[in-house]
Parts: sequence; structure tokens; C-alpha cells
Amino acid sequence: MRKNFVAGNWKMNITTSEAEALIQGLKNNVSDVSGVDMAVCPPFPYLKLVAEWLKGSAIKVGAQNMYFESKGAFTGEVAPEMLLDVGCHYVILGHSERRHVFMEKDEGINKKVKKAIETGLNPILCVGELLEEREAGKTNDVVESQIKGGLADISTGEMDQVTIAYEPVWAIGTGKTATPEQAQAVHRFIREWISENYDADIAEKTRIQYGGSVKPGNAKELMDQPDIDGALVGGASLKADDFAAIIKAAR
Ligand code: PEP
Repeated sequence: MRKNFVAGNWKMNITTSEAEALIQGLKNNVSDVSGVDMAVCPPFPYLKLVAEWLKGSAIKVGAQNMYFESKGAFTGEVAPEMLLDVGCHYVILGHSERRHVFMEKDEGINKKVKKAIETGLNPILCVGELLEEREAGKTNDVVESQIKGGLADISTGEMDQVTIAYEPVWAIGTGKTATPEQAQAVHRFIREWISENYDADIAEKTRIQYGGSVKPGNAKELMDQPDIDGALVGGASLKADDFAAIIKAAR
């Protein structure tokens, strides 16, 4: 049985005092939660602080991006070893904002996925279609090519470290959520792809989160779907009560 996994993507949206209050509120709200893996993904400058505040808690820390080299002349970039060093467990890779604002391509995302795994981080690989791609009936094609590209040369053993997040771009930060049926159909498609390209056991074990305007009011019906194994949450993860309610809906 896959354990649900709920992660919060704070994006570029917080200050030190806000982060401290958010973590305090979360710790108070989820101290009795078991059976769900939980993480918050702050911007780089707050990772170490947040990891320290979370010591002794079941909530883990993730980063929102990384570079695929260990060190060197890469001004402005952050190495996976640095993320491990400051207490990260997860790293979000290929988020739609990285793909569409910063023009990241599958090949570079794949290098990051490989490097994250090799370094001991657990990548959350994001995939998802644009509205026009959905309307043109291309959702599965787009998702397949992103999964195939992002997971190129990732072995069966390495898949243990990978979480996939299906995030339809038209649902991120827009208040429009995929219906549970729409999300379930793509999650099923991804699981079948994993089964065909790895094996049924890996497909059964791989967690596939849904992301896109998840809120306390829609979290349960989404995560009740058989192939939805948790959520990657943006906006609602900035409010302790809302994020805690989503985590509780995942139980
Ligand atoms: C996200 O940032 O990955 C996301 C899903 O954002 P939101 O929940 O705000 O749509």
C-alpha cells in the first residue's frame, strides 16, 4: 500500500518571520498525524532555518530546484550536495514554472533527476499539460514525453527515490482544479506507463501526487482516487490551517 505524500511548494513567497509562524502553526496542527509523509519546500535562503525548526518533527524539507553539477563556476546555482548539507530530503524538479518561465527542457530536467538520485535526494518530478494541449486532446502525449524525458536512464532501483507530480499547468495557481476524474485518468495513464517501462511492482509503489489549486475543500475527493497518492500544494501550503487540513484529508 502506497503511503500518501503531501508537499507544500512555497515558491518565492515568504519572509523569515512568516516562515517561522507557518512552521509553528503547522507543527501544532499536524503533531498527531501519522500515515502521511509531509514536506515543505521553502525558497533556498530559508532551507537551513526551516530544517532546524522542524528537527524532531515528521515534516521533511525539500528544495524547489537545484543544478546538476556538484560544484564549480555556476554563478547563482545550487548543488544537490548543498541541499543535503542544509537538511533537505526532497527536491522539486521540472515544475511548470521552471519549464514555462525559465524554459527548462526535459533533457536538463533529466540530468537534475539523475544527479539528485545519485546524491541521495528524492526528486519530485513535475509533469503536466497546458490548457491548449488538453483542448487539442494531447494531454497523454505531453505527459508521456515529459515522463519519458525526465526519467531517461533512471533504473528500476532508482525509481524507489522518485515521486511524480501531475500538475496540469492550467490548474496551477488559477483556482481551477482538475476534476477528480480528469486527474485520476492521467494518474492511471502515468502508472500504466511506469508499469510498461519498468514493471508492475514499481508502478504500484511509485507515488503520483496531484497538484493544481488543491484546497481543503477539494483535497479529499482528489486523494480518494485510486491512483492519486497525495498532493503538491502551492498557495494553500502558505496557510498553516489549510495545509494541515489537506494533510489530514490524505490520511
Ligand atoms: C504548485 O505550485 O505546484 C501548485 C500546484 O500551486 P497551487 O496549489 O497554488 O495551484
